[in-house]
This record gives sequence, C-alpha cells and structure tokens, in this order.
Amino acid sequence: MKSKVTSKNENNFSPLVVEKKRVLVTGGAGFVGSNLIRKLLAKDYRVICLDNLFSARAEKIEQFRDNRGFEFIRHDITQPFELEVDQIYNLACPASPLYYQKNPIYTTKTSCLGALHVLANAQRTGAKVLQASTSEIYGSPQVHPQVEKYWGNVNPIGPRSCYNEGKRVAESLFFDYYREYGIAIKVVRIFNTYGPGMSANDGRVITNFILQALQQKDITVYGNGEQTRSFCYIDDLTDGLIMMMEEEEYPGPINLGNPDERTINSVARTIINLTNSPSKIRYLPLPENDPLSRRPDISLAEKVLKWRPKVSFAVGIKKTIDYFKKNYYGLGGE
Ligand code: UDP
Repeated sequence: MKSKVTSKNENNFSPLVVEKKRVLVTGGAGFVGSNLIRKLLAKDYRVICLDNLFSARAEKIEQFRDNRGFEFIRHDITQPFELEVDQIYNLACPASPLYYQKNPIYTTKTSCLGALHVLANAQRTGAKVLQASTSEIYGSPQVHPQVEKYWGNVNPIGPRSCYNEGKRVAESLFFDYYREYGIAIKVVRIFNTYGPGMSANDGRVITNFILQALQQKDITVYGNGEQTRSFCYIDDLTDGLIMMMEEEEYPGPINLGNPDERTINSVARTIINLTNSPSKIRYLPLPENDPLSRRPDISLAEKVLKWRPKVSFAVGIKKTIDYFKKNYYGLGGE
C-alpha cells in the first residue's frame, strides 16, 4: 500500500506521521459496499461511506461504528458533494431488479448524476475513481461468454433499461473524463454476486430460493428455468475490486465474475438439497427482457490483475445458507 509520509521533524524528535489512504465508498451500506468496507478497514485504510439508505440498510454498517477509521455520511449521490479522498469506489445504485424498477427514473439519475458527481470530485482532488458497472450493460447477450469488447444487446426502452442504460451512460462519462481530463478511472463490470450480507427482501434468485427453501415454501422459478447465470462469491469479488483499484495503468472495462455458469433450475435443486427442504418448484412467467444467458469471460482480469475467483459455488452457497439460517431463523447454521 502506498501511503503519504510526512515528517514534522521539529527538534528531530517527532515521529514520522503516516497518513492513511482515505477511501470513499458510495453505496457503502449495500451488500457489496459493506463487504468491501470491511476489507478496506482491515487493510488500515480510512473509509468514508456515503449512502442515502434508499435500498440499503443501516444495520449493514453498524458493525463499523466503533472503528475509528470509519465514517458514515448520509447523502444522496444525485446531489453534488465535496470530499477530500485518495480513492473512490462508486457503488451507489439500487442493483436488484426489484429495487431498481421501483423508482426507475431515480435509478437512472443515480447512475448518471452519481457518475458526474464522483468524477467532478475526482477531478478536483486527483483521486482515483472506480465505477461499479455491470454485466447488464451486455443486455441479453448474443456473444457468449461475454468479453469486454462486446457492445451488448440492450433494450433502451424496457423495464430494465433504467439500470442498464444508466450504467452505460456512467461508463461513457468515465471514459470521457479519462480522455478529456486524464482522470485515473477504473471501470469494472460486475456479474451476479452472492454471499452473506445479501438483503433478504431484494427479490434476487439466491435470496429468494434460500428463504423459500428454509420456510418450506414453493421455489419460484421464472420462465422454464433453463436461463443461466454465473455466480461469484462476495469475497472473490471484493478482492477483485481492490486489485483493480490498486492496479496502476489499466482503465478498464474489465469483467469481474465467476465463469461457473449454471441454469436457474440447477440452482433451485442445489438449494433444495443443501437445506433438506421439502419445497417444490413452482414455475412462474419470465420477467420481460430477462437475459437468457450470462457468463463472464475473465481472461482480461486474469491477465491484467492476476485475479480469478477462488470460492466454488458448493462452498459459497453453504456459507450463504448458513448466514440466512443464523440471521433470519436463529437456526444456528454451522
Ligand atoms: N429468478 C427466478 N426466481 C426468483 C428470482 C429470480 O427464477 O425468485 C431468475 C430471474 O428471472 C433471472 C435469474 O433468476 O433469470 C437471476 O435473477 P436475479 O434477479 O437474481 O438477477 P439478474 O436477473 O439481475 O441477473
């Protein structure tokens, strides 16, 4: 870790004062943000978490309250702000389809205005700034697996476009600031991520299925369940985010995800088996514009960052089931 070192050098007695790196995490009270903050604090960074708690919960950051390196600012990223920091992780945006479609205009504003505000802040302070982009920018992909140079197949006027197009505009802004002003940008495209700390009510497939299985309710598979996703365990993802931020040259975009692709039917069966649940699968209509397949090509991340996910689905999903048992049912977990 590079730190600024200043010496007061009064009478030659003052010790060296090591200034810790100051890191801003927007959307830091969310699932990815709170897990990232835990790692940054463990690395001895000073962390400011900026969040308006629109789709996040204050409980996720309670754990840091007594840490002197941590500060929480309740602020809406669609409004300008000024903060003196060395690095910015821009994670602010509702990310689950259920939440980002609740107030779609606000979702678009969060990505677009949020990007403008973090970039302005980076320009003023010289901070490095990482944009949490998404596999959704590939839309319903016609290239499989998805490589970074694929431009995507996105419906610009559908129910998912507030999120997809908002994130695409954010990428565009990041690269324009990079070309125009030489801002140190880092753009990562995050694929489906899961693990302890996910919100129980965000409507995502992993949380829905685990909770349904634990409650012995029907497992709601949308469509015929043969659509695919590739799930990355949260610790692998946060490692990748930090490695991208610490990398000195490559602006991105770079895919971060686990290429282990599975059908939604197989995810349902795995969760039913691991929870010993009597739940049955109930098939419901596929939501509009739901992508039929998704798998990251991560050769670029392997080459540039020497990163690849380490946690298998079998291990990660057990830890996630345990988390929900402990936190929602008092069932003890392992
Ligand atoms: N899905 C499902 N049942 C659920 C929730 C989601 O079958 O209860 C499907 C959804 O239609 C999609 C996949 O699981 O094909 C992943 O959905 P999620 O909302 O977790 O993420 P995203 O669609 O953003 O990848």
